[in-house]
Amino acid sequence: MKKSLSVIVPCFNEEAVIEESYKRISAVLKSFDYTSEIIFVNDGSRDRTLEILSGITLKDKSVKVISFSRNFGHQKAVTAGVNSCSSDMALIIDADLQDPPELIPDMVNMMENTGAQVVYCVRKARKGESLFKKASAKLFYRFLNFLSEVKLPVDTGDFRLIDKSVIQEFDRLNEKGKYIRGLISWIGFKQVPFYYEREARFAGETKYPFSKMLKFAMTSMLYFSTKPLRIATSLGFISVAFALGLAIWSVLGKIFGFTHADSGWTSLFVLIIFFGGVQLLTVGIVGAYVGNIFDEVKNRPEYIVEKKLNFEQDEENNPKIS
Ligand code: UDP
Ligand code: MG
Repeated sequence: MKKSLSVIVPCFNEEAVIEESYKRISAVLKSFDYTSEIIFVNDGSRDRTLEILSGITLKDKSVKVISFSRNFGHQKAVTAGVNSCSSDMALIIDADLQDPPELIPDMVNMMENTGAQVVYCVRKARKGESLFKKASAKLFYRFLNFLSEVKLPVDTGDFRLIDKSVIQEFDRLNEKGKYIRGLISWIGFKQVPFYYEREARFAGETKYPFSKMLKFAMTSMLYFSTKPLRIATSLGFISVAFALGLAIWSVLGKIFGFTHADSGWTSLFVLIIFFGGVQLLTVGIVGAYVGNIFDEVKNRPEYIVEKKLNFEQDEENNPKIS
């Protein structure tokens, strides 16, 4: 029997690119000897994305759409796609054609030839992105690796191919705040890199403004490491040691006359601000973890699906899809 492949495409306000993405992905899949489907996940778009996708599903039954009730975020959209996929392999790709779909056959070949369960794409170069984005991304992946207890490959996005065993393990993950690229590394099995050059966005603007990037970075750090808590404790120790040292130095200075402690208004002021800062930072770090625990214990669903298109055909024989 032929192996099957699902291509998962999260989209948020992608009316400018979605038609072209569909054309390029489906052209690749047609020339390819696998049973395939494309799952577009509409992440609460406020433009014509859903309308365009609905039109495509009428013409092409191998295109499925999951549409959220609102914007839940990129990682939730990918999660929904993987949760609804019952193929032997799943490929996660952005809608904006920054990750060229023409690489899919090579990635599948690599998976077959190496016997790996994950082929993750590593960006050799990133075209058409701002200097800030490139520099912050480079720094972020390295810093995250320093924090993380699991080794995470640097300069990789969610553009990757995963096989059935990884899909099944992914479905068993209960946490609501998902940093997908990290979780796939955490799942393990054999994972091999695939090097490529990231293109510029085909059209439209990035859907990752600074605020979303920051939230994404926070999730990855808080879910993959408890090091910030330990760093906070170390900071506390350093400040206490510093204060003690200063106290001893002042007393000795008074006795032996090498300091003039009572004239130190500025030093007092600086110290108060310094320790205040250390305390606020520590409370902030603890607060961030507590906030995440609060979010997790509420146990709300990760996303709300408003509509599914073209899923009817496999509803009876696939219990995963509801
Ligand atoms: N995306 C999404 N929900 C969001 C933000 C982005 O589904 O809230 C999708 C978006 O449509 C695209 C992918 O996630 O397919 C990556 O977003 P984008 O290309 O804007 O990010 P960048 O490449 O600039 O980091
Ligand atoms: Mg992009």
